Amino acid sequence: MDHSDAYEPGPLEGKWLKVWEKEKIYSLKSSQKNTKYYMLEMFPYPSGEPHMGHARNYTIGDVIARVIARKGYNVLHPIGFDAFGLPAENAAIKSGIHPYESTMANIGKMKKALKRMAMTYDFEDEEITCNPDYYKWTQWLFLLLYKMGLAEKKEAGVNWCDSCQTVLANEQVVDGKCERCDSAVRRRVLSQWFFKITDYAQRLLDDMELIKDGWPERVLTIQQNWIGRSEGARVDFKLVDDNEEVIIPVFTTRPDTLFGVTFFILASEHPMVGKIVTEEGFKKEVEKIRAVIAKQTDIERGSAEIEKIGCFTGRYVINPLSGEKVPVWIANYVLAEYGTGAIMAVPAHDSRDFDFAKKYGIPIRQVISPDGSSGPDLTEAFTEEGIMINSGEFSGLASVKGKKDITAYLEEKKIGKSDINYKLKDWLISRQRYWGAPIPIVYCEKCGMLPVAESDLPVLLPYDVDFKPTGLSPLAYSEEFVNTKCPKCSGPAKRETDTMDTFVCSSWYFLRYCSPHLETGAFDRELVKYWMPVDQYIGGIEHATMHLIYSRFFIKALYDAGLIDFKEPFTKYYPHGVVTLGGQKMSKSKGNIVSPSEVYNRYGADTLRLYILFVGPADSPIDWNDSGVDGSSRFLKRFWRLVLDNLKFINASGFKNPAGSKNAAGSENSLISQFNSGALSSFEKELYRKLHQTIKKVSSDILQRFNFNTAISSIMELVNLMHKYNEENSKGARNPLLVFETTKKLLMLLSPIAPFITEELWNRMGNTGSIHRSTWPDYDVAIAAEEVVTVIFQVNGKLRDKAELAKGMETGKLEGLALSSDKIQKFIDGRVILKKIVVPDKLVNIVIKE
Ligand SMILES: [Zn+2]
Ligand SMILES: [Zn+2]
Repeated sequence: MDHSDAYEPGPLEGKWLKVWEKEKIYSLKSSQKNTKYYMLEMFPYPSGEPHMGHARNYTIGDVIARVIARKGYNVLHPIGFDAFGLPAENAAIKSGIHPYESTMANIGKMKKALKRMAMTYDFEDEEITCNPDYYKWTQWLFLLLYKMGLAEKKEAGVNWCDSCQTVLANEQVVDGKCERCDSAVRRRVLSQWFFKITDYAQRLLDDMELIKDGWPERVLTIQQNWIGRSEGARVDFKLVDDNEEVIIPVFTTRPDTLFGVTFFILASEHPMVGKIVTEEGFKKEVEKIRAVIAKQTDIERGSAEIEKIGCFTGRYVINPLSGEKVPVWIANYVLAEYGTGAIMAVPAHDSRDFDFAKKYGIPIRQVISPDGSSGPDLTEAFTEEGIMINSGEFSGLASVKGKKDITAYLEEKKIGKSDINYKLKDWLISRQRYWGAPIPIVYCEKCGMLPVAESDLPVLLPYDVDFKPTGLSPLAYSEEFVNTKCPKCSGPAKRETDTMDTFVCSSWYFLRYCSPHLETGAFDRELVKYWMPVDQYIGGIEHATMHLIYSRFFIKALYDAGLIDFKEPFTKYYPHGVVTLGGQKMSKSKGNIVSPSEVYNRYGADTLRLYILFVGPADSPIDWNDSGVDGSSRFLKRFWRLVLDNLKFINASGFKNPAGSKNAAGSENSLISQFNSGALSSFEKELYRKLHQTIKKVSSDILQRFNFNTAISSIMELVNLMHKYNEENSKGARNPLLVFETTKKLLMLLSPIAPFITEELWNRMGNTGSIHRSTWPDYDVAIAAEEVVTVIFQVNGKLRDKAELAKGMETGKLEGLALSSDKIQKFIDGRVILKKIVVPDKLVNIVIKE
């Protein structure tokens, strides 16, 4: 043997990387028309070297993709880069390096690392969203939505980050702070582009039925809460006004509390406030309070803790049910964007209204009570269901019934109707930043706002732009970019200077992967029909509300446009857990990072992959642990020695590897017949049974349960048993065929997890071709089954019952089973048990006093 017997992962892995690159081992596409499988991990934002979370995400996806492909599927396993976005631009402002240059450099680093970790991607099909051949189609999709009436420009209160100098989607504001830079977010009213995702709110809920078997329930719950459907009623309140009829509608989930309305609130920014506050005395106070509220963010205003402030406007509305005159206030805790921007306040039955009423001395009138009696004054809002009181003809009704009856009454009198409200807001997609896809819209003085002609796409993002954040879109300063011709009248026109949110780019990239080089369209409809939907999607649960909702929305819109024939993009979604260090999320700013390269440079990529999968369940957080990495490395060394020792024995025994010969399947069959004919010793039978059980367990753990850690444990158990077999038979004869088969299958089972070491040993074994092209091993159901024995149950030595049980059951369990048998109990019948005799796998004898 001219090989080194020492396990040196560095050179070994380097050698196979070259071979695999040459033999295109990374693409899992099959030339045969086999069943398709679209395996996808969320594509990375190229921030430089991948971090450990990336390594975890991609290793999980890689192992599944490899096993699926070896089970005969045609596997699409693409990679790309979500390359636009704020971080590159913010970094560029500090460093002076153009975002395009830094992004491309980062992509280079990331790809190098992904290849080094042996990720099976179709790198030739990669998509980079900041390249014009990609964003051309992002712009095309914008135009499609525009034509469908799903993209619109409107004035809206938006979340504004002063530090990033841009608007943020609601989903990008975390605890009132900018998700990107942690600065406080404030509210501004701006003209912005929105996608009307709210048109799809109900379908986003209803279609969860189509994916509920493949998505974790907790993710669907997060989406449900985000969409926030509530059923209730719209109720029309009429403004007390001598001159004209002004109706102010409200949405309420509790129409049963209408008799408890003691005041009415308009959001302070509600357009009606300016009109209805007419008396000078009130104007001043209202303006003062409005100015204070304007400084508060929507998130602050929506939180339960904020101090409630407001003032009376001097005006009244009429409660349509009771006919009462109700004072109109403005208050900070009512938002213009929620519902109608106005509420009926019922302090007795709403906690926030209760706090407000207490503070300002507004009456509190109880109209629901637990038992129908009116008790003492409330010390807090009673928000449960109960019996209606003080509610005119509706008094005495259960509140649940009251909701229906009152709603019916409102409808009959045409002063309201049953209604549904959603918390989901339209998706704000325009950004006043440079590093994004330009929005393909032009403004002509004569013709107004017009979409760019499809034939003029892409609207190229100019390279030379001063992209320092000023609050205005950087593109607005580029004369060359801004000035264009009107697509209709050819007169002078100006381009839209906002760019699109990067989440637009990532809402459809999985379609582009199906035909990545197509020049005539965003995607090839036939190929999309073949590959989509994605069979398995993997990525962090932090994307539950943004990316995963936006992508679902895009697919529904494309379905409505008649371009695709499926309604959901991801049949199954699996959120992997995060990687922490010392309990803290790894992050550059905290300086607590272990990079994948540190690990693979020192131990090899096999150790990194093995550790990441072995350290814990794939959907749980894992805390990085250096000694765990050492442990994984030690296992591989032990594995290496075991296999080399086996190979030495096999060679010495004169046994020939039947690989490639006609006899290839013969060795397996003759081993099965040895097993069945009793030609194997009992230890050999155990080892062979364990092998089949391990194949069964590893296959189902990986493919059905994503339990990589238990799959690896069972491989380790098999390795241990093999060691024991070798030790116990070191002098005597080992069965070369059994050693050969077990070694071969062990390599196959470990190969998707540790691709390098297994390829090397596979090669040394004399097998032809790559182990990664070999068919995934099957197991024999009968051999993998636990061995069953018949155990007889006696009372005083007489056979009374028997049972078919798994071999090797322990004494205590056998006793318990015997005693719980009805037939045995009949003979014991309360008499004293003198002793219990157990012969494992054979009998239990209960000795009683006669
Ligand atoms: Zn920011
Ligand atoms: Zn024009």
